[in-house]
Amino acid sequence: MSEKKCIKSLLPAELEAEMLSLGQPRYRAGQIFKWLHLGVRSFGEMSDLPRSLREQLSESYLITAPEILRKQVSSDGTVKYLYGLADGNSIESVLMKYEHGYSICISTQAGCRMGCVFCASYDPARSRDLSPAEILDQVLFSQADSGTKISNIVLMGTGEPLDNYENVLRFLELVNASGGVNIGMRHISLSTCGIIPRIYELAELKLQLTLSISLHAPTNELRGQIMPVNRTYDIRRLIEACRYYFEKTSRRISFEYSMIQGFNDTVSCAQKLAELLKGLPCHVNLIPLNKVEGSPLLPSGKNAIYRFQRTLEERGLTATVRRSLGRDISASCGQLRRQNSHTEV
Ligand code: SAH
Repeated sequence: MSEKKCIKSLLPAELEAEMLSLGQPRYRAGQIFKWLHLGVRSFGEMSDLPRSLREQLSESYLITAPEILRKQVSSDGTVKYLYGLADGNSIESVLMKYEHGYSICISTQAGCRMGCVFCASYDPARSRDLSPAEILDQVLFSQADSGTKISNIVLMGTGEPLDNYENVLRFLELVNASGGVNIGMRHISLSTCGIIPRIYELAELKLQLTLSISLHAPTNELRGQIMPVNRTYDIRRLIEACRYYFEKTSRRISFEYSMIQGFNDTVSCAQKLAELLKGLPCHVNLIPLNKVEGSPLLPSGKNAIYRFQRTLEERGLTATVRRSLGRDISASCGQLRRQNSHTEV
């Protein structure tokens, strides 16, 4: 690997300090930041910088620039990208069109370490944390390739964001900065399987992002069977952490609940879920499980899903059944990367 420093992972203040240390005026930092966030692939493209500075920078810094290895366009307009990284690893991002604009689902790790049994992203052997620049690149290059302006970001692709905490926080600062893509925290959702200490840390920062919890079951007994993380972090403690997060940020929590036939879709499960979430300002997203190759788990039927939703609503919770985009292109997390790694072997 190159020993050059990753310039796109630097925050505006750090870039300014670097410029001052090179004897450059402060405003150079703003110029470079703008170019980087437009998605240039080399210093040579930064046409308003003196040539000598461009050469100097390219000796000590690298600019990350992923290659589009595959691109699939769904009949509903959803676009799925498979990006190749400098070290040969690959990651996925999904661009979705909603009434109010474009939203992108991005990855935070190449391969996940968490091991949820229903998820295609589990890949401890090839797992590594993405750098802040590699997380940001998914926004920049998807935007450039599609000619769209992305207005919402969900950290719901491959990887566990709170297992790559420092880099994810730095990414949030970069994407939020003026002079770059400048997407507000209220337009960003962070989804986690529930790493409790990090939820407390995040709460202290009082960011206005939406915290989304992958819950998928209402009891330790059930959740422990499908999500190994639950064996370390107890479900009641997790909900306590969510209550704390709400107290600190006043942001309603979002819960993801993937519905698995005969496992977590009974009326009794819905009653237990309502009991667990009682008094917590939140929203429940019900998602029919996406079938993953090689797994015996099946999605719940429509009737079971609507019965579950009704049971929650009767108990005062708000619950929606998530519309599924990009079904025809394996748009759920990890699926394309997995196909790609199959073709490699
Ligand atoms: N690691 C984070 C974010 C990535 S997963 C987290 O756990 O939240 C994004 C969401 O998709 C999570 O809610 C995850 O549990 C869910 N998911 C993964 N595989 C799925 C599948 N086969 N069907 C339905 N939802 C799935």
